[in-house]
Amino acid sequence: MPNSPTLDDYLAQAERAHGHLCAGQVLGVRMAILGLELLDIHDARGKDRKRLVIFVEIDRCLTDAVAMVTGCRLGKRALKFRDWGKAAATFIDVSTGRAVRLCAKESSKALARELCPELADKEQQQMLAYREMPSADLFTTQWVKVDLPPEEFPGYKGERIVCAECGEGINFHREIRRDGKILCRSCAGESYYRTA
Ligand SMILES: [Zn+2]
Ligand SMILES: [Zn+2]
Repeated sequence: MPNSPTLDDYLAQAERAHGHLCAGQVLGVRMAILGLELLDIHDARGKDRKRLVIFVEIDRCLTDAVAMVTGCRLGKRALKFRDWGKAAATFIDVSTGRAVRLCAKESSKALARELCPELADKEQQQMLAYREMPSADLFTTQWVKVDLPPEEFPGYKGERIVCAECGEGINFHREIRRDGKILCRSCAGESYYRTA
Protein backbone atom coordinates (compact mmCIF):
# COMPACT_ATOMS: atom_id res chain seq x y z
CA MET A 1 0.00 0.00 0.00
CA PRO A 2 1.32 3.50 -0.74
CA ASN A 3 2.22 5.55 2.30
CA SER A 4 -0.98 7.02 3.65
CA PRO A 5 -0.68 10.57 4.93
CA THR A 6 -0.22 10.76 8.69
CA LEU A 7 -2.22 12.97 11.03
CA ASP A 8 0.58 15.53 10.88
CA ASP A 9 0.59 15.46 7.05
CA TYR A 10 -3.13 16.11 7.00
CA LEU A 11 -2.86 18.88 9.59
CA ALA A 12 -0.17 20.60 7.53
CA GLN A 13 -2.35 20.35 4.43
CA ALA A 14 -5.40 21.58 6.36
CA GLU A 15 -3.47 24.56 7.64
CA ARG A 16 -2.45 25.48 4.11
CA ALA A 17 -5.93 25.02 2.65
CA HIS A 18 -7.85 26.74 5.44
CA GLY A 19 -5.40 29.55 6.21
CA HIS A 20 -4.74 28.63 9.83
CA LEU A 21 -4.62 25.67 12.14
CA CYS A 22 -7.34 25.62 14.78
CA ALA A 23 -9.10 23.17 17.10
CA GLY A 24 -11.93 22.75 14.58
CA GLN A 25 -9.48 21.68 11.91
CA VAL A 26 -7.84 19.12 14.18
CA LEU A 27 -11.28 17.78 15.04
CA GLY A 28 -12.30 17.67 11.38
CA VAL A 29 -9.12 15.88 10.31
CA ARG A 30 -9.55 13.32 13.10
CA MET A 31 -13.22 12.88 12.19
CA ALA A 32 -12.46 12.31 8.51
CA ILE A 33 -9.65 9.84 9.25
CA LEU A 34 -11.97 7.88 11.55
CA GLY A 35 -14.84 7.95 9.04
CA LEU A 36 -12.62 6.58 6.27
CA GLU A 37 -11.15 3.98 8.58
CA LEU A 38 -14.57 2.71 9.68
CA LEU A 39 -15.70 2.44 6.05
CA ASP A 40 -12.44 0.76 5.09
CA ILE A 41 -11.70 3.39 2.45
CA HIS A 42 -7.95 3.79 2.05
CA ASP A 43 -7.53 6.10 -0.90
CA ALA A 44 -10.41 8.58 -0.75
CA ARG A 45 -8.64 11.19 -2.86
CA GLY A 46 -7.41 8.64 -5.40
CA LYS A 47 -8.81 5.35 -6.59
CA ASP A 48 -11.69 5.33 -4.06
CA ARG A 49 -12.81 8.85 -4.89
CA LYS A 50 -16.11 7.76 -6.40
CA ARG A 51 -17.04 5.66 -3.40
CA LEU A 52 -17.64 8.43 -0.92
CA VAL A 53 -20.46 10.90 -0.23
CA ILE A 54 -20.46 12.96 2.96
CA PHE A 55 -23.17 14.97 4.70
CA VAL A 56 -21.79 17.71 6.95
CA GLU A 57 -23.99 19.39 9.55
CA ILE A 58 -22.06 22.59 10.23
CA ASP A 59 -20.41 25.37 8.20
CA ARG A 60 -17.30 25.79 10.31
CA CYS A 61 -13.58 24.93 10.24
CA LEU A 62 -14.35 21.25 10.76
CA THR A 63 -16.13 21.09 7.40
CA ASP A 64 -13.11 22.43 5.52
CA ALA A 65 -10.91 19.80 7.13
CA VAL A 66 -13.32 16.96 6.32
CA ALA A 67 -13.46 18.10 2.69
CA MET A 68 -9.69 18.37 2.49
CA VAL A 69 -8.91 14.93 3.92
CA THR A 70 -11.57 13.14 1.87
CA GLY A 71 -11.47 15.16 -1.35
CA CYS A 72 -15.28 15.42 -1.20
CA ARG A 73 -16.48 18.78 -2.45
CA LEU A 74 -19.75 20.57 -2.95
CA GLY A 75 -18.88 21.08 -6.61
CA LYS A 76 -18.56 17.34 -7.13
CA ARG A 77 -21.87 16.63 -5.45
CA ALA A 78 -19.92 14.49 -3.01
CA LEU A 79 -20.34 16.90 -0.09
CA LYS A 80 -23.83 17.71 1.17
CA PHE A 81 -24.53 20.49 3.63
CA ARG A 82 -27.31 20.39 6.19
CA ASP A 83 -27.33 23.53 8.28
CA TRP A 84 -28.02 21.94 11.65
CA GLY A 85 -25.24 23.63 13.60
CA LYS A 86 -23.84 20.32 14.81
CA ALA A 87 -20.19 19.26 14.72
CA ALA A 88 -21.20 16.08 12.92
CA ALA A 89 -20.83 14.36 9.58
CA THR A 90 -22.11 11.19 7.94
CA PHE A 91 -19.71 9.25 5.73
CA ILE A 92 -21.36 7.05 3.12
CA ASP A 93 -19.71 4.33 1.07
CA VAL A 94 -21.95 4.40 -1.99
CA SER A 95 -20.47 1.14 -3.29
CA THR A 96 -21.85 -0.80 -0.32
CA GLY A 97 -24.45 1.54 1.23
CA ARG A 98 -22.64 1.43 4.56
CA ALA A 99 -22.81 4.76 6.35
CA VAL A 100 -21.47 6.03 9.63
CA ARG A 101 -22.39 9.26 11.41
CA LEU A 102 -19.79 10.79 13.70
CA CYS A 103 -20.54 13.62 16.11
CA ALA A 104 -18.01 15.47 18.26
CA LYS A 105 -18.73 14.88 21.93
CA GLU A 106 -19.45 17.97 24.00
CA SER A 107 -17.44 16.34 26.81
CA SER A 108 -14.25 16.53 24.72
CA LYS A 109 -13.83 20.22 25.63
CA ALA A 110 -13.75 19.54 29.36
CA LEU A 111 -11.44 16.61 28.75
CA ALA A 112 -9.06 18.86 26.79
CA ARG A 113 -8.93 21.19 29.78
CA GLU A 114 -8.00 18.29 32.06
CA LEU A 115 -5.40 16.92 29.68
CA CYS A 116 -3.61 20.21 29.07
CA PRO A 117 -4.00 22.27 32.27
CA GLU A 118 -0.62 23.91 31.63
CA LEU A 119 -2.04 25.73 28.63
CA ALA A 120 -4.11 28.75 29.60
CA ASP A 121 -5.68 29.27 26.20
CA LYS A 122 -8.73 27.14 25.45
CA GLU A 123 -8.02 26.92 21.73
CA GLN A 124 -4.44 25.77 22.40
CA GLN A 125 -5.68 23.19 24.92
CA GLN A 126 -8.10 21.76 22.42
CA MET A 127 -5.67 21.80 19.50
CA LEU A 128 -3.18 19.77 21.45
CA ALA A 129 -5.65 17.46 23.19
CA TYR A 130 -7.65 16.70 20.03
CA ARG A 131 -4.50 15.39 18.39
CA GLU A 132 -3.89 12.88 21.16
CA MET A 133 -7.28 11.88 22.51
CA PRO A 134 -8.64 8.41 21.64
CA SER A 135 -11.37 8.57 18.99
CA ALA A 136 -13.91 7.22 21.47
CA ASP A 137 -13.39 10.30 23.66
CA LEU A 138 -13.80 12.63 20.70
CA PHE A 139 -16.74 11.23 18.78
CA THR A 140 -19.95 9.29 19.05
CA THR A 141 -20.27 6.69 16.31
CA GLN A 142 -23.58 5.70 14.82
CA TRP A 143 -24.09 3.28 11.91
CA VAL A 144 -26.93 4.67 9.82
CA LYS A 145 -28.81 4.22 6.55
CA VAL A 146 -29.04 7.12 4.11
CA ASP A 147 -31.46 6.97 1.21
CA LEU A 148 -29.68 8.60 -1.69
CA PRO A 149 -31.75 9.00 -4.85
CA PRO A 150 -29.75 8.64 -8.08
CA GLU A 151 -29.56 12.40 -8.67
CA GLU A 152 -27.67 12.83 -5.40
CA PHE A 153 -24.74 10.77 -6.63
CA PRO A 154 -21.64 12.44 -8.06
CA GLY A 155 -21.65 12.32 -11.83
CA TYR A 156 -25.41 11.86 -12.29
CA LYS A 157 -26.58 13.41 -15.54
CA GLY A 158 -30.20 14.45 -15.86
CA GLU A 159 -32.40 16.79 -17.78
CA ARG A 160 -32.43 20.53 -17.22
CA ILE A 161 -35.64 22.48 -17.36
CA VAL A 162 -36.62 26.13 -17.29
CA CYS A 163 -38.69 28.00 -14.69
CA ALA A 164 -42.01 29.20 -16.12
CA GLU A 165 -41.74 32.50 -14.17
CA CYS A 166 -38.13 33.73 -14.35
CA GLY A 167 -36.86 31.67 -17.26
CA GLU A 168 -33.75 30.52 -15.40
CA GLY A 169 -32.50 26.98 -15.93
CA ILE A 170 -32.90 24.41 -13.16
CA ASN A 171 -31.07 21.11 -12.73
CA PHE A 172 -33.01 17.87 -12.45
CA HIS A 173 -35.48 17.41 -9.61
CA ARG A 174 -34.86 20.79 -8.01
CA GLU A 175 -37.99 22.28 -9.54
CA ILE A 176 -41.39 22.63 -7.92
CA ARG A 177 -44.51 21.69 -9.86
CA ARG A 178 -47.58 23.68 -8.95
CA ASP A 179 -50.86 23.94 -10.84
CA GLY A 180 -49.25 22.36 -13.87
CA LYS A 181 -46.43 24.92 -13.88
CA ILE A 182 -42.73 24.27 -13.43
CA LEU A 183 -41.23 26.75 -10.96
CA CYS A 184 -37.80 27.33 -9.47
CA ARG A 185 -37.61 27.44 -5.68
CA SER A 186 -37.26 31.18 -5.71
CA CYS A 187 -40.40 31.78 -7.77
CA ALA A 188 -42.21 29.18 -5.70
CA GLY A 189 -41.73 31.41 -2.66
CA GLU A 190 -38.67 29.82 -1.03
CA SER A 191 -36.31 32.62 -1.95
CA TYR A 192 -33.47 33.69 0.34
CA TYR A 193 -33.19 37.07 -1.43
CA ARG A 194 -35.39 40.02 -2.43
CA THR A 195 -34.89 42.29 -5.40
CA ALA A 196 -33.08 45.43 -4.22
ZN1 LIG B 1 -10.42 27.44 11.66
ZN1 LIG C 1 -38.03 31.10 -11.34
